[in-house]
Amino acid sequence: MFFDAHLHLDHLKEDEIKKYLELSKKNGLDYFFVNSTSLKSNFQTKELAEKYKEVVPGFGLYPLESTKKDLKEFEKILETQKGKFFIGEIGLDFKFADDAQKKEQNEIFQKVLDLAKEYDVYVNVHSRYAQRQVVEILEKNKQEKVIMHWFCNSEKYLRKVADKEYYINLGPTYLFHDEQKAMIEKIDKNLILFETDYPVEISGKAYASFELKEVINKFCNDFNIQLKELEKMQKKNFKEIVH
Ligand SMILES: [Zn+2]
Repeated sequence: MFFDAHLHLDHLKEDEIKKYLELSKKNGLDYFFVNSTSLKSNFQTKELAEKYKEVVPGFGLYPLESTKKDLKEFEKILETQKGKFFIGEIGLDFKFADDAQKKEQNEIFQKVLDLAKEYDVYVNVHSRYAQRQVVEILEKNKQEKVIMHWFCNSEKYLRKVADKEYYINLGPTYLFHDEQKAMIEKIDKNLILFETDYPVEISGKAYASFELKEVINKFCNDFNIQLKELEKMQKKNFKEIVH
């Protein structure tokens, strides 16, 4: 079995979601870490997970779609959740943020990290123009259960998170950026997960979960790992995250 370790489905209609999951399953993708961004998307993800057992729900407050006012309602979502879940998508995005926005993002991030520790679940972490800050907060908070989303930009921080044994998601950008291979070469392959971040476009194309095999196959070729062997590693990781 393989799984998509980070995607979004809240923009799709019900019949489209059904088709999406069916097509993915036909192509060997069995589970989906569906992230939420706004309060509305958290409710959608919750419903989706109740309907499809292959959906692992992520509840999150995405830095660009949340305010502190959302925290109370967010806590209620976690309190009423019955099945397994992770916390995502959360993190920091400083690309266009002013100082007040940075401060608010920090406060929300800190709070949801604490909630993840309280519930003893994994976090799926976004960082843009804020890699150093994200790593510092995770370290300071002694966060142990972490999945780093879209994180192959800086060798320095990649090493840092690998040392902490955080999972590192590899996405479709891996197909076009050879420098990622050189960076991954030096870290433990057991820490690698695969993600599409669907429907985010990468080089003008939204990669769907069923196309993740392209990334997986390239990874196997690059590091001389048998597909069966990788599948075993992924299964073990899945069990560790969704136990
Ligand atoms: Zn995302």
